[in-house]
This record gives sequence, structure tokens and C-alpha cells, in this order.
Amino acid sequence: MTCWSMDLHHHSIPMRLTPRTVFLPLELEDHPLDEGRRLRVVVVGAGISGITSAVFLPAKVPNIDLTIYERNSDVVSVRCDVPAHAYQATFEPSTTWSTAYASGAEIKAYWKGIVEKHELGKYIRLHSKVTKAEWSEEKGKWLIAVETEDGNHVDEADFLITGIGHFSDPRLPSYPGMDDNGASGLPILPPLQKAAARIDHYARNKTWVAAAIGGEHLEQFTITKLMSTRLGDRVDLLNEIIPDFAPNCRRLTPGPGYLEALAANNVNYVTNRIERFTRTGIQTKDGTHREVDAIICATGHDINFSTAFPIVAKGINLQEAWRPGGSPGFPDSYLSIAAPDFPNFLILLGPNATGPAGTLCHSVENQVTYCARVLRKASTQGIRSMAPTAAATRDFRAYCESFFLRTVMSEYCSSWHNGGIKGGRIHGIWPGSAAHVNAVRREPRWEDWEYTYLNRQGNRFAWLGNGWTMKDVAASDPAEAANVDLTPWLRAEALGGNVDLRDYHEQWYAS
Ligand SMILES: Cc1cc2nc3c(=O)[nH]c(=O)nc-3n(C[C@H](O)[C@H](O)[C@H](O)COP(=O)(O)OP(=O)(O)OC[C@H]3O[C@@H](n4cnc5c(N)ncnc54)[C@H](O)[C@@H]3O)c2cc1C
Repeated sequence: MTCWSMDLHHHSIPMRLTPRTVFLPLELEDHPLDEGRRLRVVVVGAGISGITSAVFLPAKVPNIDLTIYERNSDVVSVRCDVPAHAYQATFEPSTTWSTAYASGAEIKAYWKGIVEKHELGKYIRLHSKVTKAEWSEEKGKWLIAVETEDGNHVDEADFLITGIGHFSDPRLPSYPGMDDNGASGLPILPPLQKAAARIDHYARNKTWVAAAIGGEHLEQFTITKLMSTRLGDRVDLLNEIIPDFAPNCRRLTPGPGYLEALAANNVNYVTNRIERFTRTGIQTKDGTHREVDAIICATGHDINFSTAFPIVAKGINLQEAWRPGGSPGFPDSYLSIAAPDFPNFLILLGPNATGPAGTLCHSVENQVTYCARVLRKASTQGIRSMAPTAAATRDFRAYCESFFLRTVMSEYCSSWHNGGIKGGRIHGIWPGSAAHVNAVRREPRWEDWEYTYLNRQGNRFAWLGNGWTMKDVAASDPAEAANVDLTPWLRAEALGGNVDLRDYHEQWYAS
């Protein structure tokens, strides 16, 4: 055993010998290994992604200075058509949902409860719309333009994280086309059908409507039978709504109460294309005019998985580059979480983010945890900027392209999986199951990233600092020494030989 000691109170490190190296001597940085620099992090959006970031990031990233900008007057706009217990945070399980498919108001109250309990208000700036973000290579920071009620300002951040949602920007139809039938329309019909004297339901796309999520059988025959049963006397409607592509090409929608409402006497299902709006109603291409008091557009959202505002780095504007017509013209992410050429930029629920099943909230928690690991690495390892390589991104894209060809999603349907382009490239979901994506994100592949360093000499190991850890420093202070555990790896249960050796010094297997 070797015993050794060093004088911790020597703050400047005396150079006693000429370094025995053929390389330039490194000017040692005088700080403990794990001191970490303070990182200013901006998250855009205070939906489930933003709220989860506000809970996890301060807990997981020491020294974080976090701000979340939200353009709306409140946090979390709920859009949920799955059972509520699948739309809750794993760290705040609720056992008191009033019904399986809880209302939007109940789900919103749940998420607002999390904001209150964890005192997240201090991180969130409401009425604050991010209008542009630009990477300054000179500063090594993002310059973020924010529009508020009190005027505009430019914020600076070491890292930018978008949590702007899959579908937060409504896509209003360009006149004269005002029709759709997707996840947006299905939840609206049942409550309206109960309240309105007459409803004309204009629908362009056919869709599969599953039974309740979790109970659905994926075989086409079974779903057809279930849909037929739910339509009761109106089985004639089956021909109008059953698509010519297989279930799951578009996302299966549970649509609780939808088919029952569709079959009601006061609902008129119209598949003829809309010609125009008039002052009193809607005229379809067959010349029929139907008068109404109100028109509700459930025409979906921007599904390009690009941003609604410019994000610019190295001369590239991600907003344009990731849309049709740009280069590459589709959302080309690295494992859904980052993009080559965009340093210190992370994405929550971006393209290819979640598996086709599983709970979204758990997936977001995994993504935020991945972000926390990136931030901790940057903070403690002297990293000025980091971005995934183009080569790693290309390899991921090649995997996606080959994978999705084997799935029903590559059939000729238009969906948010393919940006509404029939048979188009799938960028909406992860190429694999929910468990698959969680396992992949568990261990970041640091070798897929390229780095620049804060150290003046560019040395990647300058962060090793003065040879001490923060604990060493604390232990050297007589006032603190008693509170420092320098051997956290010693476990009481080892005395009885009762240990899981897989779990020793790491937790690699639990995903
Ligand atoms: C009809 C419909 C049904 C859905 N059903 C389900 C479902 O059953 N299950 C499910 O898991 N998911 C469902 N979704 C997907 C839903 O979008 C996500 O579950 C969830 O809302 C994603 O949370 P988020 O925080 O990532 O995004 P959002 O909830 O969309 O939040 C993004 C936030 O970012 C803010 N924002 C955007 N741009 C800016 C800006 N420039 N500056 C400042 N703030 C900005 C927005 O105002 C918004 O508050 C559904 C979506 C729709 C439209």
C-alpha cells in the first residue's frame, strides 16, 4: 500500500522539475477535477418537455443556470387521447385519476401541481416567445432573441434546448381546402355531438379507429369488426372511413366515443371535397351548400419536425434546412437529440424521438436525462462546444431508412410519421420499440461527438485540474471533514456477501 500526501493549501502549483515530455508543457488549471463551470441553459417551451427539464436538470446538473421561455400565458397545453396514467410523470405517479381517459382539465391540473410542488416557477418565463436563436462561434454561446410583453431582448446561453413539441403550431388549411380527419378531429366530435343540433363532419382522409389503447388487436380483420360494432346501425359508414392502407401506417387512434358519435342522427359525415367557405356555411365540390353557425378547424399541425423560428449555426438555418425544399430537406437529427454543425444544441421530442408505443412522458424523462449527461460532461470536462459528427448522423439515417422499409409505416398513407407525404421518409417516430430507444439513450456514445475545449492550449485533459476532487478539498477542511464520505463505494451488505456484482460501481443493465 502506498501512503501519500499533498499540500492542499498550495494554490499555485510550483514547477519543481522540467517536464519530461517532448510535448509543450501544459499550464495546469488550478481547480479540483469536478468543480464544473456554471452553465447557462435555455429551454424553449414549457409543455411536458419543458416541465420535465425544469424538474430534472437542476437536480442532475450542478451549477446550472436554467431559464425556460414559454410564449403562452400558462404552462402545458394538454393534447392527450391515451389513458391518463400513461400521460403522467414517472416520478409523480397519480392513483386518483377520476377516469381512465381523464379530461384535459384534470391532466393540466396534474401537471400544474408538479410545477407548484417542485417550485418550478422560478425557471419559467411566460409570455416569452423565442423568435430566433443564433450560435456565436466567437462567444461560444447561443444568442436567443425573445419577444415579451415588456419588449424584446437577446439572451445568451451556453446550451439551447428546444422543447417546442411535435405539434404546437396549428396548420390552418389554405382556402379552399379545409378538411382532414386525424387525431385532432377525433376527440372533438364526441362532446360536440352531444351539444350541437346538427354537425357536418368534413373528412378527407380515411382512418383506422382502434378500441381503447392497450386493448387493441392489430389485425385488420379484428379492428374492422370492432369498428363495425361501434357504428351500430350505421355500418354503411364503414366504406367511408376504412382506409386502403394497413392499420398502423398512420397512428391508430383510440377515439373514445368517436364512432358512436359519428353514427348519431345529428351527425352528417361528408367526404365530398370542400369547394369554398361562404358567409353562412360551406359549399362542397358537388355544389351542395350547408349552412352552419360555426366552423371548427381540426386540421392538424405543422408536422415537419422543423422549428417555427430560425435556429442558425455555421451559416445553416435549421428551420429551412429541415423542411421540404431545404438541404437536406428533412429533419436529419443525430439519434433525435442533436444535429451536426449545431454546437451545444439539444432537442426534446424532435424527429424520430419516441417509439410507436410506450409512454411519452417516460420517453421525455429519458431524453432530459441524456441532456443532463451532456450538460454535466460539458460543465466538468472543460468543453466549450460539442456537436454530433456528420458521419454518425449519416449512419443513423441509413439505419432509419432501412428499418422503416420493413414496416407498415412505409405504405402509401399520409401521416405525421412521414410529414404528410404519402410513402415519404419516416421522421416522426424512433426506428424501434419504446424499450429499444430507451436502451439506446441510456449510454451516450461520446465517440460520435466532436468537441472544442475552453483550455487555452486546447488540451482535452486540462479539466483534470490540480489533481484533487471537490471531496478531497472538503475533507482537508477540519470543519467539513466529518461530513465527507470518501469511500461511498463501501456497502454494508458486502459484509454478508449479499451484493449484486452487476451493480457494483455502475448501473449498466437497468433501462
Ligand atoms: C390532437 C393531439 C393528440 C395528442 N395525443 C397524444 C397522446 O394521446 N399521447 C401523447 O403522448 N401525445 C399526444 N400528442 C402529442 C403531444 O404533442 C405531446 O404529448 C406533448 O404535448 C408533447 O409535449 P411537449 O412539451 O414536447 O410539447 P407541447 O406540449 O407542444 O409544448 C410545447 C410548448 O412550447 C411552446 N413554444 C413553441 N414555440 C415556442 C417559441 N418559439 N417560444 C416560446 N415557446 C414556444 C408552446 O407554446 C408549448 O407550450 C397529441 C397531440 C395532438 C395535437
